[in-house]
Amino acid sequence: VTYDDVIVGAGSAGCVLAARLSEDPARRVLLLEAGPDPGPDPPALRDGAAPVLGGGYAWRLAAGQRGRTVPYYAGRVVGGSSAINGTMAIPGTPADFDGWGFPEWTWERVRPAFEGLAMPVRQGTRPAAGTVEAAFLLGCAALGLDGGPVPTTTSRGRRVSAATAYLDGARERPNLGIRADAPVARVLLEGGRAAGVELAGGGRVAARRVTLSAGAIFTPAILLRSGVDLPGVGAHLTDHPAVVVWAVPRPGVHRPGEPWHQALATTASTPGGPADLQLNLLAHVDAGQVPQLGGALAGPAIAVSAMLLAPASRGHVRLAAADPLADPVVELELAAEPSDVRRLAEGVRLAWSVLRFPVLGRQVARVLAWTDAVIESDEALERAVRAFVSPTWHPAGTARMGDVVDQCLRVLGVDGLHVVDASVLPSLPSAPPNLTCLMLAERAAAWMARA
Ligand SMILES: Cc1cc2nc3c(=O)[nH]c(=O)nc-3n(C[C@H](O)[C@H](O)[C@H](O)COP(=O)(O)OP(=O)(O)OC[C@H]3O[C@@H](n4cnc5c(N)ncnc54)[C@H](O)[C@@H]3O)c2cc1C
Repeated sequence: VTYDDVIVGAGSAGCVLAARLSEDPARRVLLLEAGPDPGPDPPALRDGAAPVLGGGYAWRLAAGQRGRTVPYYAGRVVGGSSAINGTMAIPGTPADFDGWGFPEWTWERVRPAFEGLAMPVRQGTRPAAGTVEAAFLLGCAALGLDGGPVPTTTSRGRRVSAATAYLDGARERPNLGIRADAPVARVLLEGGRAAGVELAGGGRVAARRVTLSAGAIFTPAILLRSGVDLPGVGAHLTDHPAVVVWAVPRPGVHRPGEPWHQALATTASTPGGPADLQLNLLAHVDAGQVPQLGGALAGPAIAVSAMLLAPASRGHVRLAAADPLADPVVELELAAEPSDVRRLAEGVRLAWSVLRFPVLGRQVARVLAWTDAVIESDEALERAVRAFVSPTWHPAGTARMGDVVDQCLRVLGVDGLHVVDASVLPSLPSAPPNLTCLMLAERAAAWMARA
């Protein structure tokens, strides 16, 4: 059988594409996923309070970070990263999309697609007085930051992944196949066009059109294994870098099982300019859930993380080996640019001030690792930023529009091959990128359905 569409990767973008393209009963669509398929609305992934990093549903790569190695997670399950993420649901700003410089992706063009997402978004509610969230927002307001509750991709307290929102209603369609535990090795190219894919376990699937939606780490690896080595494949890897200031809450502050992310605030370096720093409160965290803490803390934890929204630094993804099951080499290069280090240092100072602001300070027993001496010295603070900067697992840019795909997301120089996932983003939106990936796939699906 020759499929009309083979989609590689059942993540945020892949689920949208598979659901939308199979709306036409005459189109035969196959969705291939490297990870497992736990079925509709799986109980193991329903908890939307925190990221799900265990349970066998995530890739855990060892990424290089300027001489260190840090764990790098991505979803490896039907639903992809949306099935394991922190559920923060924030579209980018108009300036993010206008700034890309592609006529098809201006805010005017993308806005209806954001508004038409089938993903439910729960708008956060103002935190009750006296809670750690209310105290955080008071502290942010006192520093002039713009704060509020966090909207989430949840419904009645449960996580809604792209699989739940898009795929579950399409699973019974006879023209849609979903094959899990089926990692794709490469795209088969014949005479300058995609003719199908080869599976890592052997076996080939023939297709008239192939779309790579394996995410910004694995899509460039598949392109390279397929011999598509345009400059730009695997380059320009971007993530939102963050420095997290961890603290121990006083007794009574921890509300076990409550969502980690309920309040955030943003700020701009230039008055009236675009927000370029986001402070996220992480509360109700059990330190055991955070492998990055390496056992430095046991029991309840809270934190304020300073996340850079428009980083200048870029890393890359390369092939480690010809073996399609070998993890690619990921070099993050977070905060390689001095401007990123400086802005993160300002973010840490803000996080420190918020944690020590009297209202929140009363709920904090002690702050870990950071001291007044480090915070006050530019040199010591920048050294600490370089040592502690961590990824937020928002990879993008490794098959950018303009370099690797055109603005309709067709791979340059190869017919019948698309990339639709975070790889194509010219730069990250100034927000966590899940909604942007869904929007991107909605637009690509509409074009592909007409083509
Ligand atoms: C822990 C974590 C927390 C996050 N928190 C947030 C948040 O709170 N808010 C937010 O907006 N964003 C968040 N993100 C980021 C967001 O979820 C991603 O940006 C988005 O889901 C990316 O979508 P995608 O379609 O590009 O790729 P993904 O959703 O990652 O999907 C790629 C899929 O392809 C599969 N795949 C890979 N290789 C192959 C292969 N060779 N063959 C077949 N299949 C393959 C993968 O297993 C995966 O299922 C978070 C991400 C992580 C990992």
